[in-house]
Amino acid sequence: LNQRTGGKFMSQRETYCLIGAGAMAEAILSGLLKNKRASAEQIRLINRENADRLRQMESAYGIRCPRQKEKAIADANTIILAVKPKDMDQVLKQYKDDIRPGQRVISVAAGISTSFIEERLPRGTTVIRAMPNTSSMIGRSATALCGGAYATEEDLNSASATFSSIGSVVRVEEKDMDAVTGLSGSGPAYIYYLVEGLERAGVNAGLSHPVARQLTLQTLVGAAHMLLETGEDPAQLRHKVTSPGGTTMAGVQSLADHDFHQTLITAVKRAQKRSKELA
Ligand code: NAD
Repeated sequence: LNQRTGGKFMSQRETYCLIGAGAMAEAILSGLLKNKRASAEQIRLINRENADRLRQMESAYGIRCPRQKEKAIADANTIILAVKPKDMDQVLKQYKDDIRPGQRVISVAAGISTSFIEERLPRGTTVIRAMPNTSSMIGRSATALCGGAYATEEDLNSASATFSSIGSVVRVEEKDMDAVTGLSGSGPAYIYYLVEGLERAGVNAGLSHPVARQLTLQTLVGAAHMLLETGEDPAQLRHKVTSPGGTTMAGVQSLADHDFHQTLITAVKRAQKRSKELA
C-alpha cells in the first residue's frame, strides 16, 4: 500500500485532519506535503471561523478545508489538535462524538496532558502529545513526543514519522514534557538572545552592526553544523579550538567566570517551572 514517489514513501492510507488553522498547523501540513508524507488529498484542515484563512490555505497547498467538519474528523486516521491550550477543552467537547478509538489523536498544545484529552474522548482513544518548536516553520523543529495510556509502539512510530517531516523527533516520557518545553520549546528564543548579545559584543568591539550580524550568524550556523556533522562532543570540539593562553581561552574563561552554564541551567529550570504552573 505504500507507493514510492521520488525516492520517498508516501503512505496511501494515512489521512489527516488538522483542527486549528494557525501557524503550527500550517508548518505541519506544509512539512507533510514537502516531504511527501501525504498528498494534498490526504489532508483536511478545519478551523472555528476565519473563512479567509481557510481559502488561503486551500489555494496555497491544494488541501481541502471542508464545511462538514464532523465528517472530516470522522474520516481521518490521524487528527492533529493544533489549537491554543485554552481552547482545547471546548474543541474536545465539540468534536468528541466524531472521534473513536482506532483513530490517532495528536496534540501539539503546550501543557495539555494526554490524560486531559483522554478523559474527554471515548475510552481507549489513542492520544499522543508532541512538543515542536517554532523552527518547524522552516522544517527544523526539535520535536519531543510521548504517548498516552492507549498509544502503542506503532502509534508512536507513526507520529514520529509525521513530525520528522518538520524536523527531528525524540521520544520522551510524559513527565519530562515540562523539561522539553523549558529546553527546546523555549530554546529558539535563548539562541536569538545569545545572537543579540554577540552582535552587541561585536559592535562594542568596534565592528559595524551588519558585519557583526553576519559574522555572528555564520559562526552559529558553522558551529551547529560542526556539532551535527562530526558527531563530536561539544566539550571535545571546544578543547580542540582552545589553545592554552590563546584568544579563545581568554573569551571562554570569561564566560566561565560569569557562570555562563549556571545561567542557562537556571533559565531552563525557570521555563520548566512556568510550564508546570501553566498546565
Ligand atoms: P494559532 O492561534 O496561530 O492557531 C490556533 C487556531 O485554532 C486559530 O486559527 C483558531 O481560530 C483555531 N481554533 C480555536 N478554537 C477552535 C475550535 N473550537 N475549532 C477549530 N479551530 C479552533 O496558534 P499556533 O501558534 O498555531 O499554536 C497552536 C498550538 O500549537 C498551541 O497549542 C501551541 O501551544 C502549540 N505550539 C505552537 C508552537 C509554535 O511555534 N507556534 C510550538 C509548540 C507548540
